[in-house]
Amino acid sequence: MTDAVTATSPLVIPAVDVINIPVVGGGLFPVRRIYCVGRNYVSHIREMKEADERDPPFFFQKPRDAIVGDGATIAYPPDTGDFQYEVELVAAIGTTGRNIDMASALNHVWGYAIGLDMTRRDRQRDARDLQLPWEPGKSFDESAPCGALHPAANIGHPATGAITLAVNGVEQQRGDLREMIWRVPEIIAQLSRQYVLRPGDLIYTGTPAGVGPVVPGDRINAHIDGLTPLSVTIGPA
Ligand code: MN
Repeated sequence: MTDAVTATSPLVIPAVDVINIPVVGGGLFPVRRIYCVGRNYVSHIREMKEADERDPPFFFQKPRDAIVGDGATIAYPPDTGDFQYEVELVAAIGTTGRNIDMASALNHVWGYAIGLDMTRRDRQRDARDLQLPWEPGKSFDESAPCGALHPAANIGHPATGAITLAVNGVEQQRGDLREMIWRVPEIIAQLSRQYVLRPGDLIYTGTPAGVGPVVPGDRINAHIDGLTPLSVTIGPA
């Protein structure tokens, strides 16, 4: 028999941090899970030379403590020689739902931000070649920079507009949100068939063409029309 766990039972290690992202206009949005969509812009699928452009969307997760905020310096990660950026629109879920239909999907979105799906591209390619899981390539410390969250109540639901990324002031990625193969309502409908979506979930919605490597000292500036820009610097290993 074990003792019942009660609210007054002491923690045996320090409490785990709550991960919040700042909201434009004030407040904090606590993060529960980070879902990411793979292969959601035709231009990126073509540059990666993989997959059929008509394949259904697929999803992977990153740990929520992979979040870092605007202005952060992120350490060049271990276990890679090909650390790459992917600029993405992030949709933040505000209400619980399962088997959500497309017509009501946007009602579940609390707001939007700019995110970076930082990737160990060599480990991702290993996963493809060896048919192993994607975690080593995608789900590691500081791999999910996220900018300030804009309430949908203020900005609506962006479906068009430029999405760009520059490294050291030189543009490397440029696309338009209208080029997404699976739009946000479709992503939510599909994802909510696999998981119960809950308040605090973030969905990184995929990247356009132009992905590439960064090295220590590089500065990344990510932009989506209508959202607060996101900048991070790559630090030493
Ligand atoms: Mn991505």
